[in-house]
Amino acid sequence: MSSKPISVLITGANRGLGLEMVKQMIETQGPLSKVFACCRDPDGPRAEKLRALAKKHPDIIQTISLDAADPKSIKQAAQQVASIAGQSGVNVIINNAAIALRNPFFQSTPEEMSISFNTNVVGPLVVIQEFISLLRAAAKDSGTPGMSFRKAAVINISTMLSSNTLAKEIYSRFPLLSYPVSKAALNMMSVCASVELQKDEILCTLLHPGWVRTDMGGQEGEIDAHESVEGMLKVMNSLNEERNGALLNWKGETVPW
Ligand code: NDP
Repeated sequence: MSSKPISVLITGANRGLGLEMVKQMIETQGPLSKVFACCRDPDGPRAEKLRALAKKHPDIIQTISLDAADPKSIKQAAQQVASIAGQSGVNVIINNAAIALRNPFFQSTPEEMSISFNTNVVGPLVVIQEFISLLRAAAKDSGTPGMSFRKAAVINISTMLSSNTLAKEIYSRFPLLSYPVSKAALNMMSVCASVELQKDEILCTLLHPGWVRTDMGGQEGEIDAHESVEGMLKVMNSLNEERNGALLNWKGETVPW
């Protein structure tokens, strides 16, 4: 593993798995030059915990305003990050922000489908498009051959609920529509991205964090955010060409499409 400091950008970093990722990045993934912790409203009440963490690590954590459902906000975030990151770019982008609306098939409205697609698919797509020059700069700057997490990577957080193979069983147990449909689209977008990004030796891999006790996962979740992120970081650090474009769970096992 290279000991060169890396920079990491995480969306939806104000609570749940995103906030835990910022914490564990700082605790276990050094050396770091910057963690760009993005959320919709870094100065608002929902980002209190993130601000407290940023205060403890003012040289590393930089909070950035980014609404995944608003392409203009993503563009502005990319400009702000570029002005801070400079020529060394951004090594890792984690598209973590997502929305899980709960309506089943017949109650799912066009508006709900649009919000889910805009946040869960279009958001990560525009993030990759807007940050590509920073990822390319990081890949070049790393001076290491091949593909690896610390060189340059996009990690898109998906879910087992996106699996076509498991869909009948999953929908019977969790009858919600817009979320799994949008995450299945995220999977396809990410595989296409992996083909494009490979040309610049930038990884693009999908991770399922497990069923986690967060606002989204609920209290009946099987693991806590700490265990999930610890597992995902281990998997991220093990990524290489072979796992480019794959969908893996937090233990590193392949999830069937
Ligand atoms: P939470 O609901 O706890 O947190 C979601 C995060 O996404 C919040 O920070 C939220 O910010 C942010 N977010 C939502 N919409 C937007 C937006 N438009 N722009 C920017 N940020 C936004 O979810 P989790 O932490 O549990 O989930 C994180 C990821 O893990 C998601 O991609 C989810 O699909 C995935 N996942 C989670 C599972 C679980 O069991 N928890 C299982 C499988 C996958 P705000 O406070 O502003 O709303």
